[in-house]
Amino acid sequence: MRNAIAQLRRIAAGALLAITIMASASPAQELRLATFAADASPPVGSPLAYVTTLGVTEPLSCRGIILAGKKTMVFCTIDWLGVANQSQDDFKKAIATAVGTTPDLVLLHALHQHDAPRADHTTADILQEMNAPNQHFDEKWIQQVVRGAAEAAQAATANMRPITHYGLGEGIIEQVASNRRIVGESGKVEFTRSSATKNAKVRAMPVGLIDPMCKSISFWNNDQPLAVLTYYATHPQSYYRTGWANPDFPGMARNARQKETGVFHLHFNGAGGNVTAGKWNDGAKENRQVLADKVTKGMKIAWEATEKFPLTADDVSLKSIDVLLPCALHLNEENLLALVNDEKASAFDRMKSASRLSWWRRCDRKEPIAVSCLSIGDARILFMPGELFVEYQLAAQKMRPDLFVAMAAYGEYGTGYIGTEVSYSQGGYETSPTASYVSPRVEQVLLSTISDLLQADDISK
Ligand SMILES: [Zn+2]
Repeated sequence: MRNAIAQLRRIAAGALLAITIMASASPAQELRLATFAADASPPVGSPLAYVTTLGVTEPLSCRGIILAGKKTMVFCTIDWLGVANQSQDDFKKAIATAVGTTPDLVLLHALHQHDAPRADHTTADILQEMNAPNQHFDEKWIQQVVRGAAEAAQAATANMRPITHYGLGEGIIEQVASNRRIVGESGKVEFTRSSATKNAKVRAMPVGLIDPMCKSISFWNNDQPLAVLTYYATHPQSYYRTGWANPDFPGMARNARQKETGVFHLHFNGAGGNVTAGKWNDGAKENRQVLADKVTKGMKIAWEATEKFPLTADDVSLKSIDVLLPCALHLNEENLLALVNDEKASAFDRMKSASRLSWWRRCDRKEPIAVSCLSIGDARILFMPGELFVEYQLAAQKMRPDLFVAMAAYGEYGTGYIGTEVSYSQGGYETSPTASYVSPRVEQVLLSTISDLLQADDISK
């Protein structure tokens, strides 16, 4: 019944749109899309997240879609560990200027690969101001990638194509995701299942809480697919610290699907903060391709299950809520300054301390971050910050079982891990003081934000 009503609503909206266009002869309400991709592979000698680049196994990319209806919006991904603080703003401003929109309508999410660079202009500035070594951010080159992405986006605006339909599909990805926190009867994390889990006993433990589903949303010009967006929650590493930059198994799966179908493919990492492939991966090198093939298969099932629905500019909107995420109570400026200044500490630890300081200052300035929801007909895509636990994704889906709800995490990377309230009392790496910069109260803040975004059925016009 609800679908029938939605259908009627669309027909009515379509009729109204036709009248409006006839009356004004204005194409302003037309929904259009263009795609772009720019290289984001680091040069030899430039830092990856943990080691120095020796070469590139398979190129990294910054890619996106420009979706123009009532407003012009851009949704991008990058094959990097994460993009934080001022670096988020740098990308958004450059791309917004390039396509003639505002930075709040440009969203950038990382896929979180580990043999890939990290970007945080704010943290790099702190290191420089304090004469601390910067071995982790190649600032000049990052700016080049920002410019390259903006130029690619600008060039793409010459190729905007009309959208008439959207497609929804989903497919289970078998034996890739597993929960990495194994909580014992004591209520504490007893084992951590890292991306490559060597211990057979730990691999044999149950999968735990995951979301096995690959969600797929596509845009069509009648029978011609223009772009497909997929969502799946897991850490993306098979093995890393090799020095060879690569998009790892989710990026390989995306590239394989794009090659197979000829359709531009944008893949987002879901809320996979506490999810890895550890149950299915002992770290053997051949597993990278095995995992990529399993993800490719799930993406294909989702694509083949796609159902198409008509789409007009009236059915598309982006709603954002600015939130102040609560700062972890263990952070304070004096201690962090001392840690950044500690010449006995490693360059990595000093960089991490500077990144916590970046976050603390942001909290101190009461500078919010945006949590966004894109409505496309009966689909809702949530765009979330940080290394978010999978519980948030599952909770969002439960809030609106009547809608197709997908989630992208790893937007603003300045928060570190974002656990659930109870997870902070369970121990484990993800919610430790060096890994999560937010307080347990974050669950309450984010769940109510997600609820507000999902309950807002009045698509802002
Ligand atoms: Zn991570």
